[in-house]
Amino acid sequence: MRRIRAQYGYAASRQLLTELGRRLNDIARAHDEVLLVGDDEYALILSDLLNHGHATLAATRILNAVATPFTIGAVNYNATVSIGITIFPDDAANADALSRCADLALATAERTQAPYACYADTPTSVTVASWELEGELREALENSELEMYYQPQLDLASGTVCGAEALMRWNHPGRGLLIPGLFIGAAERTGQIRPISWAGLNMALQAASQWPRLDAPLTVGVNISAILLGEPEFAELVLDALAIWGIAPERLVLEITETAVMRQFDTSYAALKRLHERGVEILIDDFGTGYSSLRYFRNLPASALKIDKSFVMKLASNDEDRHIVESIVGLARKFDLRVTAEGASDAETMEILHQLGCDTVQGYYVGRPMSQAEFIDYLEGQHKTSSGGLGKGEVAVSG
Ligand code: C2E
Ligand code: MG
Ligand code: MG
Repeated sequence: MRRIRAQYGYAASRQLLTELGRRLNDIARAHDEVLLVGDDEYALILSDLLNHGHATLAATRILNAVATPFTIGAVNYNATVSIGITIFPDDAANADALSRCADLALATAERTQAPYACYADTPTSVTVASWELEGELREALENSELEMYYQPQLDLASGTVCGAEALMRWNHPGRGLLIPGLFIGAAERTGQIRPISWAGLNMALQAASQWPRLDAPLTVGVNISAILLGEPEFAELVLDALAIWGIAPERLVLEITETAVMRQFDTSYAALKRLHERGVEILIDDFGTGYSSLRYFRNLPASALKIDKSFVMKLASNDEDRHIVESIVGLARKFDLRVTAEGASDAETMEILHQLGCDTVQGYYVGRPMSQAEFIDYLEGQHKTSSGGLGKGEVAVSG
């Protein structure tokens, strides 16, 4: 809703919310209740449920009702909703406790990117763990438990490794190696994302300063969260970090999502423009899943697009995905943007991406995210392979 307010204004966001309420009322039976319970949250109270299946059926009906785009002024907007389901008296015995259960189920749906989740299916260990992690995160940075992993990227024309994306891992003393999906959300909620992100950027630049050179100096991609991007001194701090580690701006790729830019468009835009002018590459990550409002996207100071892995992972078997990837490559070409793809996990997908005109590819087939030491070994292995004489256009991969 915040995004809609930012792009279309307050009146439009109210209009969308009202229309959503109308659609929910259409679904509700005579004795059900639809209540607006937050800035952008509705509660649906369904009475006389025969069994749990009825609640999930209602969730499916809500999803169907929301599937038709919402009209905001002259624009058709595809909204997505997340649904948390809780059952009285199984989950809790009073309204307060029930609404907490609904919130937890909703958080699970959002975290797992499922359209809906039931409180009963939310393992207590998961919810407890996520609260515990929030507290532990504060110490993680001090105890050097956060680490960057590096996933190689292949230039399809030359068949050589051209860079890597830095991906954060939490080397948790009790739980093992945690992926960002388990803690970035908590870090954003608690404000820890700021120190964590700056530490991550510095770790990535320091690592890149130690990588051996292959054909050309390797690029390093760093994911930037909306919170960082909205800080007034963001551009200066990035330029300072580049200077500290002696990395040429051209080697840094800032991976941002359209949603992140929209959170604070003016501040973000100015910072990205400044960095872009200094030679830093600005890449739109997860392209195709966020805003994709073409008018606004055209104005971004971006020089590259990364096709989201959801369009890439089934590319070899899904014609629709192939059309989408083809269209994105066409769009990138028209706007003179470099185009890269993530999530390629087999040779056939690599070949299709090559044929469709992608410039670079990242995915398990090229290599999984690895520690700095493993990545340096990997690069040294690549160096030997390429001095062994790979032909141009040949795809050098180690699966
Ligand atoms: P992302 O930027 O879209 O990163 C790509 C994700 O796709 C990574 O997951 C990577 O491991 C995964 N991936 C790459 N190739 C394949 C493949 O062939 N198959 C499959 N199944 N997955 C593949 P990861 O490391 O779990 O990161 C998830 C997200 O967490 C990232 O998505 C990014 O949005 C966020 N993230 C990671 N590191 C940082 C960080 O340092 N700061 C911030 N703010 N966000 C980060
Ligand atoms: Mg990324
Ligand atoms: Mg991505």
